[in-house]
Amino acid sequence: MSSIFMPTPSVEANTVSPRDMLMLRLSIVVGGILISLFMIGDLQLIPPDLTSAYTTNRALIQLPVLAGLLAFTFVPQFLRFAQTAFLATVLSITYANYYLIHVAWEQAAFSFPYEGTLLYAFFGFFVFGMKFHYALTAMVLSSLGFVGLMLMDSVYGERTWMNAGFVAGSLFVGVIGRHRIDRLLGQLQEANEQLVGLSTIDELTDLFNRRALMSESGRLFARQRRSNQRLAVLMMDLDHFKQFNDHYGHQQGDQAIRQQADIMRQVFKRQTDILGRYGGEEFMAVIEGEDADRFELLAAEVLKQWQDRAVSNEDSPDSKELSCSIGICQGLATEFDSIDEMIRMADEALYRAKKQGRARYVMA
Ligand code: GH3
Ligand code: MG
Ligand code: MG
Repeated sequence: MSSIFMPTPSVEANTVSPRDMLMLRLSIVVGGILISLFMIGDLQLIPPDLTSAYTTNRALIQLPVLAGLLAFTFVPQFLRFAQTAFLATVLSITYANYYLIHVAWEQAAFSFPYEGTLLYAFFGFFVFGMKFHYALTAMVLSSLGFVGLMLMDSVYGERTWMNAGFVAGSLFVGVIGRHRIDRLLGQLQEANEQLVGLSTIDELTDLFNRRALMSESGRLFARQRRSNQRLAVLMMDLDHFKQFNDHYGHQQGDQAIRQQADIMRQVFKRQTDILGRYGGEEFMAVIEGEDADRFELLAAEVLKQWQDRAVSNEDSPDSKELSCSIGICQGLATEFDSIDEMIRMADEALYRAKKQGRARYVMA
């Protein structure tokens, strides 16, 4: 999963696991607890006549903003606007804090601490997982706000401008950190996608390899079983391929294997069709469908495509052209124990197709 707020490597972009959502909600709650804990400390620190302004700011602005973010995570559109919501949250709380600093200075000439600005921004950058551009926006707007505040009130006396530099500098460091993390995560995701490709795709044909074929077809079987739908397993094996290889050489043999893959891609066009190379010159298609006739039509189409191509196979004891045999096992998924059973039955049908003279399909 590559969550929008915590980009982690994934094959499926822009999806978020329930665990990610739970972690996000927990971290928002932790943020609220942190603010509440700070309240206890701050109330001992600030002059008594600021108590009311302080409590109002924290309890009626900052905590409700966090509660709003928490509630927003339950809205279906949240993921689309998550980054904007994080930015808005961080900026609202930061500016609420600026207002507090201003009021404390104005009402009681009290230098309210500025460090919260850093904590809020860093919480957004690294706990919420704000992406670089959002972090950058937060940095610029938070720094500008702080400089504006310092121009208005000289809250920290001779340390005023040093503190402003400290705020801007720290936020800058955070943004650079965010940039590095985003880049590394991007590279990791790319590498991960390459690895997934290498471990699931057959190099010669670009179809699924056997491992991916098994896991994908197992998944389709389970889905069809849940909804009591029909599916078919078609096992295909090139005829007299040993003779073809011996006569034309291994490279031509590989070329023929690729042709079988091309034919399959042309015949099985649905997005849900699972096509793979089961072994050497043996192929499998696992497809869903409403009626058995359609499966037969597709098998016949594969045979016809080989006929149309008319690839010679001189040494074949039968026809002098390359062909394939097909075994089909089809039915409602609920009629079978597992996809393995369907594969075994398709394999038996394929064996019969070979026995009956090849270049044909046989239904299990
Ligand atoms: P049948 O009609 O009964 O299937 O006869 P066949 O000669 O095709 O027998 P089989 O299916 O056992 O064919 C296996 C042959 O396929 C052996 C091997 O030479 C060839 N083969 C398997 N994998 C590859 C491959 O990756 N490339 C090439 N060029 N040939 C392969
Ligand atoms: Mg063969
Ligand atoms: Mg074979």
